[in-house]
Amino acid sequence: MHELSITQSVVTTVSERLPDATVRRIRLEIGRLSGVAADSVRFCFDMVAEGTPLDGAVLEITESSGRARCRSCGEEFEVNDLLALCDCGSADLELLAGQELLIKEVEVAA
Ligand SMILES: [Zn+2]
Repeated sequence: MHELSITQSVVTTVSERLPDATVRRIRLEIGRLSGVAADSVRFCFDMVAEGTPLDGAVLEITESSGRARCRSCGEEFEVNDLLALCDCGSADLELLAGQELLIKEVEVAA
C-alpha cells in the first residue's frame, strides 16, 4: 500500500529529528492531487507509530485544494483531480498546488 510507506517516511523523519521527544500531536497537509488518501494515512498511523516517539500522538490531516493555470488562456482555477480541463477546453495545465505532502506541525510533550 502506497500510504503505508508514506506514513512510515513521516514517522521515520520525525523520529530521527526528535529521537528523545514524546510527540503529542502531528499535523500533516496533504494536497488533493498528491494521490495520497488521507483516510489510509490515518488508518496506518497508529500501527506505524507504535514503539516510536510518535506512539500515542494525535494525527491531524489538512487536505489542501489543487490549483492549476491553463497554458492556453492563462486562467487560474481550483482543481481537485488530475483529469481537469480548463473552461476554454484546454487540458494543457500547469499544476500550481495540490501535490504536496507536508509535515506542518509537531507538538512535543514538555
Ligand atoms: Zn484555458
